[in-house]
Amino acid sequence: MPDVVVIGGGPAGSTAATMLARQGWRVTLFERERFPREHIGESLLPASMPVFEELGVLDAIRAAGFLPKSGASMVWGKDRERWSWYFSETNRQYPTSFQVWRPDFDKILLDNARGKGVEVLEGHRVLDVLWEGNRATGVRVAPPGGPELRVPARYVVDASGQSGIIGRARSLRQPDDSFQNLAVYAYYEGAERLPGPDSTNILIESFENGWFWAIPLHTGRMSVGAVVDHRLGQEGIRAAGPDAFLAAQVAATTHTSHMLRTAKMVSGPHVLRDWSYVSTEVSGDGWVLAGDAACFIDPLFSSGVHLALTAGTLAAALVNTALRDPQLAAEARPVYQQLYYQQYSHFRELAKLFYSSNMSIDSYFWEARRRLNAEDGASPRQAFIRAVAGQPPRGYERVVIDRGEAPPEFVAGLAEFNDARSRRAAEFARLVESGALGDARFALAPGALVAASPVLGDMQFERGFVVRTAHRPEGVPLSPAAARLVAALDGTTTVDEAIASLVAGLEEDAARHLARGAATVLQTLYIEGVFEPLAAAAPR
Ligand code: FAD
Repeated sequence: MPDVVVIGGGPAGSTAATMLARQGWRVTLFERERFPREHIGESLLPASMPVFEELGVLDAIRAAGFLPKSGASMVWGKDRERWSWYFSETNRQYPTSFQVWRPDFDKILLDNARGKGVEVLEGHRVLDVLWEGNRATGVRVAPPGGPELRVPARYVVDASGQSGIIGRARSLRQPDDSFQNLAVYAYYEGAERLPGPDSTNILIESFENGWFWAIPLHTGRMSVGAVVDHRLGQEGIRAAGPDAFLAAQVAATTHTSHMLRTAKMVSGPHVLRDWSYVSTEVSGDGWVLAGDAACFIDPLFSSGVHLALTAGTLAAALVNTALRDPQLAAEARPVYQQLYYQQYSHFRELAKLFYSSNMSIDSYFWEARRRLNAEDGASPRQAFIRAVAGQPPRGYERVVIDRGEAPPEFVAGLAEFNDARSRRAAEFARLVESGALGDARFALAPGALVAASPVLGDMQFERGFVVRTAHRPEGVPLSPAAARLVAALDGTTTVDEAIASLVAGLEEDAARHLARGAATVLQTLYIEGVFEPLAAAAPR
């Protein structure tokens, strides 16, 4: 009997399976197709590169010859000219990602899982999950040409993508009203690439009915798709057929139609709809969802594969914990859900803002999306700040702010938030430079709270602490030493006294190391607004 059954061999499933096999668990992965199989979603983010390294597939991905992607070129917002931004502006370690051909890319990940000890069974469709009450106990599988199998397992990872076996069976899926779009896409040969340094960028062009992607591939083909309103798209396709509908959308663009003027469609058009949803729960007793099986936003920020990879990693950490310490895993499940939603909300809020800040086009598509954001009950600024986890805007975030036409109060609010962070960073630096840090006293800011909580460690959850603030209700994880430091800083104790109590009894080297770490923790927490402003914690 396997310890873990994984349903689906896409990026989420192969990542979770590989990580779990490396922890020594017996993992069986069922995939209904035989790879290489077709899949949409070619444009990747550099944020995924560390996951490829962790999985041990970066060399194989490089060797496959996929085009390196340096950034994105966009026709969006007030400027109808094409403008570009590059990952190298904000990501020095990984200044490029890839434009992949998914059949080959997904096969590399799945073969790697097999190579790392996962039993991969292709052509095996999972029919449903076996339950004892609310506990998942295995799966029922249809092998090719053979009788059905019942496969018991201690844990089930559902990475079945849009099929969402558990999500649908347990009615966990909620459609996401913010992105009720439809995509019609095709592959072209002979399309002209963008010039110069943009030649391997994704092009995103907004137009009257929605927006287009154009992704150059190393096979010489170009993936081109229109994202339009789902109702208008369905009506248009019903009336004209997908070919004529797509041709009419292309004709309504400036840049995309120029790139395709000598191109020939060689595959498609394909139509996809109803892809945006969220699950009300992403884990339970004996089961966990990862990737599209849990949530899917919208393809605008090319975030799908990245979320699938990070969710696969996170799910593996939860399962690894559950197989070792079921009690801790039960406590860690809400944290898994919180971390999952945090990553998902990041891209969702960004996409909402981006859709709602395209002010230049007056049409049903854009007006409806601007209205939707305006009617959103929660303050968009708060939602956005939560979504970017209090970090200064980078990459797509910065582009949204700089180049979109976000509501002025939103931009002002965000600037105010970032200014406060910069001010606190400068205050802390002054304190260090003047040598006054040791004598300073800090106290937790109003509303900040340290609580015991499972935190994500190395491929497992561990018992630890978080400090929650108004801006970070999900909590900033603290190591046990950091939690002791925060507890010691009660407004009466100086930083030197708190650090001295922390390192008491340690060898000299260890004490020096911990004291240095404590200063860094203090700096991070100060900038995060965990402590009172400096004025209230001035030196004696
Ligand atoms: P999948 O890749 O879908 O893998 C799920 C696997 O489960 C499949 O292989 C399937 O065969 C298998 N399966 C399903 N049911 C069963 C069953 N019953 N038994 C056994 N196996 C089963 N993402 C990007 O990163 N960049 C992009 O440019 C991009 N563009 C997109 C454009 C559009 C229009 C859409 C809709 C999505 C796009 N995405 C993009 C999203 C991306 O395709 C997905 O988010 C990503 O593939 C999710 O990976 P996954 O492993 O969760 O699911």
